[in-house]
Amino acid sequence: MSRLDELLSLEEEIRQCRRCPLYRTRKNAVPGEGAAEPRIMFVGEAPGASEDESGRPFVGRSGELLTELIVGLGLSRNEVFITSILKSRPPNNRSPNRAEIDACLPYLRRQFEILNPRIVVLLGNIAVSAVIGHWKVSECHGRSYDTEGRIFFMTYHPAAALRFPRIKETMNGDFKVLRSMLG
Ligand code: URA
Repeated sequence: MSRLDELLSLEEEIRQCRRCPLYRTRKNAVPGEGAAEPRIMFVGEAPGASEDESGRPFVGRSGELLTELIVGLGLSRNEVFITSILKSRPPNNRSPNRAEIDACLPYLRRQFEILNPRIVVLLGNIAVSAVIGHWKVSECHGRSYDTEGRIFFMTYHPAAALRFPRIKETMNGDFKVLRSMLG
């Protein structure tokens, strides 16, 4: 199977997924989208209302900010891959719980294998703790952690930056570091 076929087959599997009860309340699963051979991949927390409606990742207000930050890296959305830890929306945007994260994480691991990005940007505490372990973004943002042949770069979730101007400034600084890593 080609990389693209693998990606499409995984996408279909995610769209049909019933591994946790969120399939009952979602409108659409949100597998992620972007390049099939990205150098860099972005991982958020979970789809919100706009993403659930459209089946596409980061298309609401957080998505607008993430898109701006990606453009600031000298890239466009279709040169990167964008997804989240959970592929289905938790009702009322509550935080994902452990069982949901455990059920969904194998999809992200398969996306890492198929897409093989050199850099994975973990956006916010849920993404950092699900992939790396219990580090707080307030302590590890702007830094990277090399493991499994990849660089995991940690920063805030765009939703936090929309709420707190100081976090937005910090996130802009983190993205300067990220830009320098892209060379
Ligand atoms: N927030 C996320 O973490 N993911 C999305 O797709 C949208 C908002």
